[in-house]
Amino acid sequence: MSPNENFYHEIPEDHPRYLSLKYRHKIIEGMEKLIVAEAGLIAHGRGECFDYIFGEKTNENAKKAIEAAVALLLLAKHPVISVNGNTAALCAKELVNFSNVANAQLEVNLFYAKEGRIEAIKALLENAGAKNILGIKEDIMIEIQELSSNRRKVDPHGIKLADVVFVPLEDGDRTEALKKLGKKVIAVDLNPISRTSIWADITIVDNIVRVLPKMIEIAKKQKKLKKGELQKIIKLFNNKKNIQDALDLIIKHIEKQKKEAFKILKD
Ligand code: ATP
Ligand code: MG
Repeated sequence: MSPNENFYHEIPEDHPRYLSLKYRHKIIEGMEKLIVAEAGLIAHGRGECFDYIFGEKTNENAKKAIEAAVALLLLAKHPVISVNGNTAALCAKELVNFSNVANAQLEVNLFYAKEGRIEAIKALLENAGAKNILGIKEDIMIEIQELSSNRRKVDPHGIKLADVVFVPLEDGDRTEALKKLGKKVIAVDLNPISRTSIWADITIVDNIVRVLPKMIEIAKKQKKLKKGELQKIIKLFNNKKNIQDALDLIIKHIEKQKKEAFKILKD
């Protein structure tokens, strides 16, 4: 057990910031095990900030986006889940579980390549029960021209063929590149105005740690629906309106938090 593992196991569960601290330390632990890039810590912090504003809860807009996202994945011919270091460190088990329920392949795709990182993520996912992980055979990877970063490399059996790509915690450039390649993109991003959020077809503005368990639950229900019913869920979803609603919610929450803070603040 690393010193960080010890630390978060010692946080009492009734601590007001218990969950936030637990996930923060999972990210640090992930970095120590090479799973998370150093910059991943900063990205996590940006996410935490938005989550704080949203009250660290899944809101109605996110629920609607999750319903539409799951329907799109279930209807896809070749759905792929793109996995980065932070997502793997935070929710390896849920990624594997969702991949099985939704019949979508897992493909590792990293912004920061470091020796040993792919192997560390592969081991983590395999320990969580994953089989046939894509994006791990360096020699067969192909490059998509639309991108200059390390993430231009995709698996010929995965994202290259995919019609729908699920990209939790994505980078904006790559989301844009995937769109230019004609893919439908589903993003999870707590920042509703990141380039990722704006470019995606379906933007889930919520924390990945809450989104994946919800997606598993919804997928189990939606698998019982007919194709036409799934198509209807997608048709009724409006991503632009959903992002607008998420932004309105931020304004509402800040107003509320301002009032609460002012009750305590003295002149
Ligand atoms: P973009 O590249 O899309 O313009 P960015 O460059 O501002 O976005 P990145 O560093 O590429 O941001 O990615 C980090 C993003 O991931 C941030 O927008 C952050 O809010 C989001 N994020 C971080 N952790 C989580 C999480 N646990 N759940 C959901 N979103 C998260
Ligand atoms: Mg970015």
